[in-house]
Amino acid sequence: MADRYHRNITYMRISVTDLCNMRCQYCMPEYGVEKKPHEELLSFEEIVAIVKASVPLGIEKIRITGGEPLVRNGIIGLVEQIKQVDGIKEIAMTTNGSLLKKMAKPLKEAGLTRFNISIDSLDPARYKEITRGGNLSDVLEGIDTVLDLGMTPLKLNTVVIGGLNDHEVSDFAAMTIDRPIDVRFIELMPVGQASQWAKERFISNETLLDRLGLMVTEVAEKGSPAKYFRLPGAKGRIGFINPISHHFCHECNRLRLTSDGKLKPCLHSNEEIDLRTVLNKPEQQITRVIAQAIDHKPEKHQLDQENICTTRNMCQIGG
Ligand code: SAM
Ligand code: SF4
Repeated sequence: MADRYHRNITYMRISVTDLCNMRCQYCMPEYGVEKKPHEELLSFEEIVAIVKASVPLGIEKIRITGGEPLVRNGIIGLVEQIKQVDGIKEIAMTTNGSLLKKMAKPLKEAGLTRFNISIDSLDPARYKEITRGGNLSDVLEGIDTVLDLGMTPLKLNTVVIGGLNDHEVSDFAAMTIDRPIDVRFIELMPVGQASQWAKERFISNETLLDRLGLMVTEVAEKGSPAKYFRLPGAKGRIGFINPISHHFCHECNRLRLTSDGKLKPCLHSNEEIDLRTVLNKPEQQITRVIAQAIDHKPEKHQLDQENICTTRNMCQIGG
């Protein structure tokens, strides 16, 4: 279904949990993460009912996210159930990758087609510092496993934070040379946990591109929030996602579903539509409420370094 700004909405991002086995500094508080009572979380049956109800509106791609989606019990079963929904063409997942060594294969067998793996440092000590305890080698092994399974191109997402990991940009870029890996640099968004961070921590992707200089050439790609470049002869690409410096709202084709059943027409807005109120009603009624959410998609977000538009942490929305 097209929204009132003629964007065709085909993609739903579903957060299956707010919980995580890491505590990235910009995403989650170190202590006091509240565990929602189980009954507040959408059950898998409810998630599948929402997916089914969204298909008549043209949703064909699902991304499972969190929190960390791999810590939700039974996640492989959820992928299997979504795979059975007629009309869903692609199921992807955004994950910190720490559990992929074991879980990538069963997830692929269940019907998952693609992973995006978040990784913010290639230095074990810094990785531990940024994630407050994460183990880099687990993630690197997860990356190897996904590549061995042939799930390529594999996308790695790196949030660049001034003074913390910005000097690693060339090391990340080098990962694209030998293997079919797309590394995407994401601008730090002043959302939730990161909203209080000093502006100096923000580094625009233009600055990063300047640092890589003439080494890269642009590769055209339509319909992606990333602008892509390639090092000479490299198998993978280097992408830049600029939600702050050049927002891509005019191409936004997505809806977000939180783990407690709220549809968010826009990541950076507090507007939410509670689907729980219709989940026990016939499918057409759920479809009607999803259509309302699409109709409520704002033309563009108002987020910048001065203006924080959502009170949820990113781990409660799913990125
Ligand atoms: N746990 C999974 C992961 O880390 O990939 C999925 C959820 S996480 C919230 C999704 C993405 O949001 C990650 O790539 C993370 O780096 C990104 N993210 C979280 N907070 C952010 C912020 N303030 N600015 C930019 N990206 C952020
Ligand atoms: Fe967890 Fe992902 Fe947030 Fe890091 S970015 S704390 S891995 S949800």
